[in-house]
Amino acid sequence: MWELQRSERATVWTLCILLVLSVASSAYLILVSQVRVVELTEMTQQSRLSNAAMLDQETSLRGWLATRDPQFLQPYREGAREWDAASGALLESLVRPDVNENIVTMLLTHQEWEEWATQARAMKASPADRSSGRLSAFLLEGKELFDDYRSAQEPTTEYFSAQRDDAITDQRNALILVMVATLGLLLVAASLALQRGRRLRRTVTAPLDRLSTTIGSLRSGDLSARTSASGVVELDSIGAALGDLATELQAAGDEAVAREARLLRLATRFETVVRVGREISASLSTRYVSESVTAAAADLLGAPATLWVRDDTGIFRATRRSDDPRGAVPPSTLVASTLVGDVAADARSAVSGPTRAYPMVLAGRVIGVLEANVDDVDADAEQVLEALMATAAAALESARLHGSIRELADIDPLTQLSNRRRLESDMETEWDRSRRYGRPMSFVMLDLDHFKMLNDEYGHLVGDTVLRAAATAVNGVLRSSDTAYRYGGEEIALILRETGPDDAAIVAERLRAAVASLTVDGTAATVTASLGVASASDDMAHQTELVSCADAALYDAKSGGRNRVMHWSAPVATVAG
Ligand code: GH3
Ligand code: MG
Ligand code: MG
Repeated sequence: MWELQRSERATVWTLCILLVLSVASSAYLILVSQVRVVELTEMTQQSRLSNAAMLDQETSLRGWLATRDPQFLQPYREGAREWDAASGALLESLVRPDVNENIVTMLLTHQEWEEWATQARAMKASPADRSSGRLSAFLLEGKELFDDYRSAQEPTTEYFSAQRDDAITDQRNALILVMVATLGLLLVAASLALQRGRRLRRTVTAPLDRLSTTIGSLRSGDLSARTSASGVVELDSIGAALGDLATELQAAGDEAVAREARLLRLATRFETVVRVGREISASLSTRYVSESVTAAAADLLGAPATLWVRDDTGIFRATRRSDDPRGAVPPSTLVASTLVGDVAADARSAVSGPTRAYPMVLAGRVIGVLEANVDDVDADAEQVLEALMATAAAALESARLHGSIRELADIDPLTQLSNRRRLESDMETEWDRSRRYGRPMSFVMLDLDHFKMLNDEYGHLVGDTVLRAAATAVNGVLRSSDTAYRYGGEEIALILRETGPDDAAIVAERLRAAVASLTVDGTAATVTASLGVASASDDMAHQTELVSCADAALYDAKSGGRNRVMHWSAPVATVAG
């Protein structure tokens, strides 16, 4: 702001000089110059008045001398009074240092003339005496005195008049000088003001405008707005402070945006946990629970995840793996039970490196572990995952308990195979899964041949034994992903998961052969079975169609001679009895 101060100082100085000039010139005019002019004018006037008075006296006296008429003495007396008044002022001027010697002469000659006049007035001579030489000489003496007076008076008047003119000229010159000086000073001040104005505009106004623009931009939300340096320390410090403030606001804004994004992500994750929690809580299938939890965890962490669940013997077994589309789990490479005890904290420290473990704890006991192939997990994700694991533990245990009870209710007591109710439930699940993921599945209907005859010939007890043996034989050749059910009587149904027509034909043939190889102790009876196979196809609308197709194929197998496998569209293998 020193520019402003300098500008103000210059203005104040200019005003002061102008004031001094004004006062000095006024003082000169009032106290010196004008007084002198008035005085000299007065002196000129008095000189002229004294002359007029002298003329009156002289003329009047000569008239009186010529006529002896007393009336002529009246102007003489008035002239004498006027002279007294005028000569007083002239006498006062004698104290001036530049007194003019003509004034002295003037006063002295007048005085002499007055003395002559006094003699003249005292003269008794009549007009007849005028011709006498004595009177003429006397009158001539008076005239000479008057002439002397006139020769002193005229230069005096001219002197005062000239002095006055000189004073007026000096006064005028002084005034012109003051005016010229004032004008010059004003011009200099105006030029300085103009120059200062430009500099102020450049160094103050323009930076202030830029500051104002920056403030406007910041107020309208543009936090990247900054002011360039102006070179004025005070303004630059304001600009810098403004910049710092904008940077802090920007940082605060970014932080708020990041916090909002984090909260939104957290909310979305918790929403997922709540949704999955609701779904798995409503499910009584351990498989569905495992699958949902593993998929949700993998989604949350953005990395493949494997769910390990403690089985009835206390061994942790991998049940689901998120990156396996079939959900199949490879043979255990990690037996988690050797690493994880009942304490949740053990599960966390059981793994290291790019793998993390999250325990599934129920009533203080670790019932499962989620293993994730992830190196770094943010605290929010871990928090959400813990909530998911807690829900999953309860849901999984609930499904397991329900499964145990249900399993008892779903087992056929004679064959120990799952019963038809279970078949219908599983069929629905598998059918939905097959449709959802576009995965293949097949269904097999197996019916023992001429079982009525066997019963009739060897009795029902033998029939029951054959039924049990057939069930065991079927289970013996089944793959782990396939399930056998007692459909009813001497009929066994099979769900072949992830199996298309070709593989289904192979499995069915293996089943047929297993049954055909059965022998009944103590009898010569032969046991064979006919099998109908159907595979899911896009034109099937419901799982019952798949069962119907397998039934139709079984009918074909029976009518085709039994002990054979028929696919619902064409025979795929036959073996003669
Ligand atoms: P097919 O080759 O045409 O199938 O002849 P089949 O005799 O097997 O035909 P059908 O289905 O008519 O006979 C089924 C028989 O199975 C009738 C029934 O006595 C017998 N059976 C059904 N359930 C049991 C069971 O639990 N135990 C015994 N021992 N026999 C049963
Ligand atoms: Mg039957
Ligand atoms: Mg039969």
